Amino acid sequence: MDGQSMKKKDIHQNEVLCEPFRIKVIEKIQLPNIDQRIKILQKAFYSAFYIDSKDVYIDMLTDSGTGAMSDEQWAALMKGDEAYVRSRNFLDFETSVQEVTTYPYIIPTHQGRAAENILMELLVNPGDHLISNTFFDTTRAHVQNQKAIPLDLIVDDLWDFKTPKPFKGNFDLAKLQAALERYHENVPFILITILNNLACSSPVSMANIRAVRELANKYNKLVFFDACRFAENAYFIKTREPGYQDKSIQDIAHEIFSYGDGCYMSAKKDAIVNIGGFIALKDETLARRCQELLVLYEGFPTYGGLARRDLGAIAVGLHEGLDEAYLKFRTGQVAYLAELLEQEGITVSKPAGGSGVFVDVSSIYPHLSEDKFPGIALACDVYIEGGIRIAAIPFHLNCVDPGSGDLVKRNFEFARFASPRRVYTQSHLDYVANAMRRVKANATKNKGYRLTYAPEVLEHFFAKFEPL
Ligand SMILES: *Cc1c(COP(=O)(O)O)cnc(C)c1O
Repeated sequence: MDGQSMKKKDIHQNEVLCEPFRIKVIEKIQLPNIDQRIKILQKAFYSAFYIDSKDVYIDMLTDSGTGAMSDEQWAALMKGDEAYVRSRNFLDFETSVQEVTTYPYIIPTHQGRAAENILMELLVNPGDHLISNTFFDTTRAHVQNQKAIPLDLIVDDLWDFKTPKPFKGNFDLAKLQAALERYHENVPFILITILNNLACSSPVSMANIRAVRELANKYNKLVFFDACRFAENAYFIKTREPGYQDKSIQDIAHEIFSYGDGCYMSAKKDAIVNIGGFIALKDETLARRCQELLVLYEGFPTYGGLARRDLGAIAVGLHEGLDEAYLKFRTGQVAYLAELLEQEGITVSKPAGGSGVFVDVSSIYPHLSEDKFPGIALACDVYIEGGIRIAAIPFHLNCVDPGSGDLVKRNFEFARFASPRRVYTQSHLDYVANAMRRVKANATKNKGYRLTYAPEVLEHFFAKFEPL
């Protein structure tokens, strides 16, 4: 047995990772040669966000809207009833979201941030303090757009890549208590991000969700979920939290949602579609007000900025996203790549989470200080070595002191190898790990980068760089 297959065996304790599906449509991908890759990267200002898709061999930039739809989803898409009002697909979509979330009032949006826009405009005032375990970047931008202050009350475990903790996405309850005590008059709601995407894509435990609900009740606050990856979170509760081993993923999801007043979701994640989203609420009055803004920004309440066929694909995808065999495979893929990278001497967040593998870039580029952009160095090197695209984003979080509730600014820097749903196979992951071996071996040759352009808002999408 050669070394590589030995490794695979060790990782799975004799269980080989096997896709719970067959492939019946394929898309050709091509690796530009090394000279071309060097030129492409230069033309792209050394930023993954300026590289053309055709020039990427393995695209691990994001798991958002990049999944492969099933035959059942394509069938639903083909049966689109494109009526403006109460089409068949809208009714299927509405039923599916109600079944999965238990919330009665369902409002379609074209994607997650459109839902954020509507909820924030309705509920947030200038100067408010918005509380979450960690705000996703568009969510944070929407809070700031309302001239409010986002507070990220994540546990300190997040910064410790090396120590395995099952629920690094949790709220720090002492910080939450301190923040509510100090700011409660200006907190419109608490947002629980499941799973906690930018916090190493770690899950939030049921115990933590329950405790957040109890604190929210004490201060009479609404609780909403940013539910993009609720199914992956439910799977991790099942596999990591005592007492849930024998419950179905759907039952666990129902319990999660029972602690909230509503949720919104980018269906581009766990509903495995290329576009779509929704708001789901318990309260009819709030739902009506959302629908009024929906008409202004998105479309009529029975399509919300989407083609009706897209609603049909979401209706099917939401249930497929809850399938345990699929979730086992998906989270197993992410864990598999994490193990391979770890075997190359790279520090990854443990245990692996949902959306992808989170890498501590300083374990590859210890010689590059933060101002030399080690994350950009990794993104560039992995593109040069393998035509692989990843994202490396420094995050600026607003934490609070658990004693006083004072604001404490903290950075969180990482690179993410995101895993598109049902798109890549085990050999693709082996290929990525091989490229990373070469990246690691040659890392000291990288002298870092200089920023040549950065806009004020959402700078990581538009920034440009040059090598030092
Ligand atoms: C993707 C994402 C969003 C925004 O959704 P879009 O569909 O990209 O607009 C919000 N929150 C989290 C946690 C996400 O991952």
